[in-house]
Amino acid sequence: MAQQEDIFKKVVSHCKEYGFVFPSSEIYDGLGAVYDYGQNGVELKNNIKQYWWQYMVLLHENIVGIDSAIFMHPTIWKASGHVDAFNDPLIDNRDSKKRYRADVLIEEQIAKYDEKIEKEVAKARKRFGDAFDEAQYRATSPRVLEETAKRDALHKRYQDVMNAPGGIDLEGMRQIIIDEEIACPISGTRNWTDVRQFNLMFKTEMGAAAEGASTIYLRPETAQGIFVNYLNVQKTGRMKLPFGIAQIGKAFRNEIVARQFIFRMREFEQMEMQFFVKPGTELQWFEEWKKRRMAWHQALGFGAENYRFHDHDKLAHYANAATDVEFKMPFGFKEVEGIHSRTDFDLSQHAKYSGKKIEYFDPDENKSYTPYVIETSIGVDRMFLSVICHSYCEEQLEGGDVRTVLRLPAALAPVKLAVFPLTKKDGLPEKAREIIDELKFHFNCKYEEKDQIGKRYRRQDAIGTPFCVTVDNQTLEDNTVTLRYRDTMEQKRVAISDLRGIIEDQVSIPSLLKNLK
Ligand code: ATP
Repeated sequence: MAQQEDIFKKVVSHCKEYGFVFPSSEIYDGLGAVYDYGQNGVELKNNIKQYWWQYMVLLHENIVGIDSAIFMHPTIWKASGHVDAFNDPLIDNRDSKKRYRADVLIEEQIAKYDEKIEKEVAKARKRFGDAFDEAQYRATSPRVLEETAKRDALHKRYQDVMNAPGGIDLEGMRQIIIDEEIACPISGTRNWTDVRQFNLMFKTEMGAAAEGASTIYLRPETAQGIFVNYLNVQKTGRMKLPFGIAQIGKAFRNEIVARQFIFRMREFEQMEMQFFVKPGTELQWFEEWKKRRMAWHQALGFGAENYRFHDHDKLAHYANAATDVEFKMPFGFKEVEGIHSRTDFDLSQHAKYSGKKIEYFDPDENKSYTPYVIETSIGVDRMFLSVICHSYCEEQLEGGDVRTVLRLPAALAPVKLAVFPLTKKDGLPEKAREIIDELKFHFNCKYEEKDQIGKRYRRQDAIGTPFCVTVDNQTLEDNTVTLRYRDTMEQKRVAISDLRGIIEDQVSIPSLLKNLK
C-alpha cells in the first residue's frame, strides 16, 4: 500500500512537471480542489473526450449530442431535487478541525473488514498450496467467520441508516462511527461533532440587484440540460424511442472533502448520456448499457482485472437500479462512472414544475407516455486520472538506468510523433521541419533539437509520445529516417514516405474504437 501511495505522489508531481495538470491560481498559492490542464494535459483530455464522443454519438445511430448552458432556470434544480436533497452528510473532528463525509468514513470501515478477510484467505492459500479449498475455508475458519459477521452487521446497519424512512438517519450515522471506534486519521482521536447535511451547489446572482436579481446555481451535473431539452431534440430530430442524448460539459460541486488530486474537484467535467426508453424495458437497457460501457473502458487495453461493477446499496428514491464502474487507482478501486436507471422521475418532475406536457407519442401503440431513462455518467477528470495512473511506469533499464515512461494508449497520447534532427547543422533541421510540415495535418507532431538524442527520447517517453523519428545525414541521401518505438525502444530505418502509413492508423481514435467491434 505504501508503495502504491508513493506512486500516486509521483504521478501528481509528474503531471505538474510535464505540463499535464497544474494547481489552479498557483502563483496565489492555489485554490482548493480546482486544477488547470497544461499543454499536454489538454491534449490528453481532448482525446479522452473524443474517444467517448465518437463511441457514443458517431457509432450509435440513435444517439445525438447537445451542448446546453451552464446557467439554467433555478426551478430546474427544485424540480430535480437538488435544492432539497443534494447533500452530503458531514462530520467534523474537534481536535484536527478536519471535516469528513460520514458515509465515506463508514464505507472505508467496511472496506477494512473486507481487507482483513481477504488477507486471512490469502495467508491460508499460501499455507495450504494446491490443496487449498477456498470455499470450505471461508465457511469454516473462525477468524474469517468472525470478521465476516462484523462486516455484515455493519453493512446492514449502514443500509438501514441510509434508507431510513424520513431520509438519512444522521444520528444513527454518528452512532455507527462511535461504535466502530473510527478515529480521525490526522488527530487519531474520536472527538466527533454531530453529522450535518451540507448542500453541494454553488450559487450566484443573475442580473443587477436593483432589477430584482435572482439566485441561480452553477449546474452540479450536465444531465438536467438534457432532460429540459428532451422535447426540443425529440421533435426537431424526429427521434424514435429508444434514443439517447449525449453531452460533455463542466459541472460544479462545493465538495467539502476535496482530496486526492483531480479525483474530487469543485469544478470538473462530465460526459453524460441519457437514453430514453419505453417503460418496462429499462432494466434490459440498464444491463445493455453496463455491458457497452464496460467494453468501452476495457478497449483501452488496461486489463479486465482493473475494473469492477459496484452496485449501489442506497438507491435514490426514483432509481430502480444503479451501479458504478470502478477502476483500480493507486488508492484502491474507485468510481469512475455511474450507470443509473432513473425511471421517469426527471421528465415527470419537469412536466410538473413547468406545466408542459413532456411525453412521447408511440406510433406503434398509438398512445403517449413518459419515457424511462438510463443514464451513463462519467467524469472526464477521473477518467484522465485513471489513464495516467495506469500508464505511469518507472522502468529499470540495463546498466542501472531508470526510464520514466507514460505507456498511454497511442490514440490518447498528447503528441503522436516527435521529430529530431541529429544535429543542428547540415540542413538536418530543415529536413526535419519538412517532415513535420507534411504530417502535422494528420496528427500532432513536435519538433525538438535541444540536447542529445537520448535525452530527447526520455522527454518524449515522459509525456507518452508513441513514436520518435531522427533525421541524420543519411536522410539527406536516401530519404530514410530512424523510427523509434516508445514501449519497446526498438529502432528501425524507414522511408519518410512510409511514416504516415505506419503511424496514422495506430494513433487515431478509430484504432481504439475498432477494439469495440
Ligand atoms: P462520489 O460518490 O465520488 O461523490 P457521485 O456518485 O456523486 O460521486 P455522480 O453524481 O454519479 O457521482 O457523477 C457521475 C460522475 O461524475 C462520477 O462517476 C465521477 O466520475 C464524476 N464526478 C462526480 N463528482 C466529481 C468531482 N467532485 N470531481 C471529479 N469528478 C466527479
